[in-house]
Amino acid sequence: QAKQAGRNTLRFFDPDMQAIAVRRAMLETDLRQAVKRNQLRLFYQVQVDASAKVTGVEALLRWEHPEHGMVPPSDFIPVAEEGYLIVVIGGWVLETACRQLAAWAGDPVTADWTMAVNISPLQFQQPDFVAGLEAILAATGARPRQLKLELTETLFMKEPETVRDTMCRLKTMGIRFSLDDFGTGYSSLAYLNRLPLDQLKIDQSFVRTLFEDAANAVISASIIDLGRNLGLEVIAEGVETQAHRDWLADHGCHAYQGYFYSRPLPAAQLMELLESSGSLMAGPNAG
Ligand code: C2E
Ligand code: MG
Ligand code: MG
Ligand code: MG
Repeated sequence: QAKQAGRNTLRFFDPDMQAIAVRRAMLETDLRQAVKRNQLRLFYQVQVDASAKVTGVEALLRWEHPEHGMVPPSDFIPVAEEGYLIVVIGGWVLETACRQLAAWAGDPVTADWTMAVNISPLQFQQPDFVAGLEAILAATGARPRQLKLELTETLFMKEPETVRDTMCRLKTMGIRFSLDDFGTGYSSLAYLNRLPLDQLKIDQSFVRTLFEDAANAVISASIIDLGRNLGLEVIAEGVETQAHRDWLADHGCHAYQGYFYSRPLPAAQLMELLESSGSLMAGPNAG
């Protein structure tokens, strides 16, 4: 009886639930101001090829909050994704990433880098997404061939034909596509070779625990096989150790990203790291 009452109390008057709702509402209000107040930052994490040569970066969003410091995207992207706010934020990310890409074009070390940008489903599904991106490319001078959009499986669950059409239009412009967090979604495999994809990205949750969880090793190896058989490049994220990298290389992985190479860094810090570390810049075979 008491337990029953407790349950009802919990359901209808849970102070934690209310606290969470209030915090969320405050977060959303704060977040709306973040773009205008110039509090968003892009960090860049290197991607390397088989010879450990840096071939590009992934742009990863941070929110430099005046009170809470550097807020990771997991704390605010889900709130932004509940509505149109993610479209505004995503637009800022694309423009900032393209401006950085154009700035790097003047340095021979970075001139050929690709820039991977995470795109939320709602952002990609905007009717003016292609036009908006064209305008950003024109304004920044970034080359579409160096832009790689990271999409997730959830995008293909609703209106897959419309999504495919949009991808094909972007593909014609030279833009490339990576399928992020592959293996963590719920969609079918049938769409894989019907979409103009260039790269499969093995989710970091499989890679980080490669040696602790036998199932994750099997899944990672299978994703590499699947990607190779479909003619796609396979990149692993969450590579934290040389052992991770070597195991993945032995199983046919093409490219790598993770703390083993570098954490995500502001552009200036990334350039400093590259200058001080010849190995990251030119790979193990250099000099
Ligand atoms: P993601 O796109 O799968 O990005 C990879 C995440 O793994 C990043 O977390 C990165 O910092 C982290 N990571 C990379 N290497 C390692 C490693 O070796 N070990 C571990 N433990 N973690 C590693 P981050 O930056 O916190 O981003 C989390 C997620 O937030 C991203 O996952 C992406 O889904 C989303 N996100 C980030 N920036 C954007 C953005 O501009 N737009 C959108 N829509 N989503 C974004
Ligand atoms: Mg990503
Ligand atoms: Mg991922
Ligand atoms: Mg992820």
